[in-house]
Amino acid sequence: MKEQKFDVVVLGSGFAGSLTAMILQRVGRRVALIDKTRHPRFVIGESSTPIANMVLRDLAKRYDLPRLLPLAKYGSWQETYPHVGCGLKRGFSYFGHKPGQVFTPSPTHANELLVAASSHDRDSDTQWLRADVDQWFCSEAAAIGVMVLEECTVREIQHAGLNDWSIDCQYEGQAISFHGSFLVDATGEAGVLPRSLGIASCVDRCRTHSRAVFSHFRGVGSWHDALNSLGGLTQDHPFHCDNAAQHHILDGAWLWMLRFNNGLTSAGLVLDEAKYPLDPSLDTFTEWNQWLARYPSLAAMFADAELATAPGRLLRTKRLQRRWSQLAGEDWALLPHTAGFVDPLHSTGIAHSLCGIERLVQILDQLWQDAARTKALAGYGKTLEKELDLIDELVAACFASFDNFDLLVVASMLYFAAATTYERLRCEGNTSLALLCADQDSVRSLLHDACAVISQHAHRSSDNTIDQVRRQVASLVAPINHVGLLDDSVSNMYRHTVAPM
Ligand SMILES: Cc1cc2nc3c(=O)[nH]c(=O)nc-3n(C[C@H](O)[C@H](O)[C@H](O)COP(=O)(O)OP(=O)(O)OC[C@H]3O[C@@H](n4cnc5c(N)ncnc54)[C@H](O)[C@@H]3O)c2cc1C
Repeated sequence: MKEQKFDVVVLGSGFAGSLTAMILQRVGRRVALIDKTRHPRFVIGESSTPIANMVLRDLAKRYDLPRLLPLAKYGSWQETYPHVGCGLKRGFSYFGHKPGQVFTPSPTHANELLVAASSHDRDSDTQWLRADVDQWFCSEAAAIGVMVLEECTVREIQHAGLNDWSIDCQYEGQAISFHGSFLVDATGEAGVLPRSLGIASCVDRCRTHSRAVFSHFRGVGSWHDALNSLGGLTQDHPFHCDNAAQHHILDGAWLWMLRFNNGLTSAGLVLDEAKYPLDPSLDTFTEWNQWLARYPSLAAMFADAELATAPGRLLRTKRLQRRWSQLAGEDWALLPHTAGFVDPLHSTGIAHSLCGIERLVQILDQLWQDAARTKALAGYGKTLEKELDLIDELVAACFASFDNFDLLVVASMLYFAAATTYERLRCEGNTSLALLCADQDSVRSLLHDACAVISQHAHRSSDNTIDQVRRQVASLVAPINHVGLLDDSVSNMYRHTVAPM
C-alpha cells in the first residue's frame, strides 16, 4: 500500500473543509483534503448572512488569502468572479399563508415581515450556488498546495495513538494510506469520523423536529410580482422581497426560496415532523404537489417551474436534526456542519461553519505543539454545543409560532437581536465571539427567557395576548436590541437592521 504523511488530514471538501485546509496550509501545516465525490456536485445550504461575510472577510485578511475577499460582498463577487454562481440577498423576507386561501396582503403588512441586512446591492449578502462555490474553494485549496484527492473512498480510519492517524483509502484504483497527526471531519451529515470513533448521537437534545423536501428549479415566478398583482404594497418594502432568503410560513411548515442570477431557484419545504411525520407510502413528488395545491399563491409561482438539471429530482430527507455527543478530542475536531445541524430557518449554517473554522484554525495555528491545545480544543467543542443549543432554541420558538404570524414575528426577532448584537460586537473588534453570542451568558439567558415566554403562548394566543407577549419579549431583549426590533410603528418593515460594514 502506498503511504503519504501530512500534518492535518481534512475529510470532506465542501467550502468548509476546503477553507479549513487552505488556511492550515497557509500557516505552514501540510494538509491533505479528501472527498468521496468530485466537484462540481449538487449540495444544499446556500444563503449567506452578514455574520458569514464578516468572518470570511476577516479570515481572508488575517491569513493573507486576498482571492477570498471578493466573495464577502455581492458587488465585488460579481465584478471578480461572475462565473461563480451567486444570487443577491438583501435580507430576510417572511410571508404568512393560510391553507386553501390565496395570499391576501394587508395594508399594514400584518402577514409580511422584511428585515434588511444591507442597504445597497453592492454591499449585500449572497446566495451561494454551492456546486460552483465549493468547486472554487476546493480548487483554491489545491492552488496553494493542499493535496486534494477527489473520488477517494475512505475504507478505514485507525487511531494508533495521540497524533497518529491512518486513513486507509481507495484512490484511482489503488490502496493508499494517509498518515496525519490531526484529523478534521468536514463531511457534514456523513459524519465519517464520529461514526468511526463510535461517538453517540445526542440528537434527543434538539427541540426542533423537522424534515425537508427540496430541489433546484427553473422558471419559478416572482413573489414580488405576485404580491403586486394581489394588491400588495411592495413600495413599502425596504428591498425587493425576492432578493432575500424568502420564507413562506405555512401550517406547521415553511418553504424557502433563494434565487440565483442564472435563473435557478432553490426551493424547499421544511415540515414540522410532529405534525407531518414522514409517510414513506407517499412519494416525494406527490407530497410536494399536495403542499403546493394547499397554497394557491405558491402553486401559481410554480405553475411554469421545472426541475433543474442538477439535482434533477426532488430530494426528501428524514429528520434534519443531528448532533454528536463529543465534538472534538486531543487530536481531532468536527467542523460545525459535521458536529450537528438544526434547520435552515434564518440561514445559520454557512455563518456557523465559518465561525467554527475561525476558532479551529486559530487553535491549530497558534497552539499546534503547545500543551494548551488540548484545553483549547475542548473549549472549541463546548462552544459548538452552545451554538447548536441556541440555534435550536431560537428555531423551535419559531416552529411553535407558525400558526400565528404575529407571534412568529416576535419569535424571529430573537434571532435578529442575537445576530445584530454579534455584528456590532464584531465590528467593535471582538472576533472571538461564538455565533449569535451563544457563549455570552447574559445574552443566552435573556434569549432563553424570551423563548420561554413565546412557548408559553404558542397555539393559544389572542390578539391581546400577542401584544402582551411582544411587550414582555421587547423588555426582556432590550439590552441586545440595538436596531429597533419589535417596533410596532414600522409595520414589520425593518430597514434599520443593516449590518455595520
Ligand atoms: C436542507 C438544508 C438547507 C440549508 N440551507 C442553508 C441556508 O440557506 N443557509 C445556510 O447558511 N446554511 C444552510 N444549510 C446548512 C449548510 O448546508 C451547511 O452549513 C453547509 O453545507 C456546510 O458546508 P460543509 O462544507 O461543512 O459541508 P457539506 O456541504 O455537507 O460538505 C460535505 C462534504 O463531505 C463529503 N463527504 C461525505 N462523505 C464523505 C466521505 N465518506 N469521505 C469523504 N468525503 C465525504 C461530501 O461529498 C461533501 O463534499 C442548510 C442545510 C440543509 C440540510
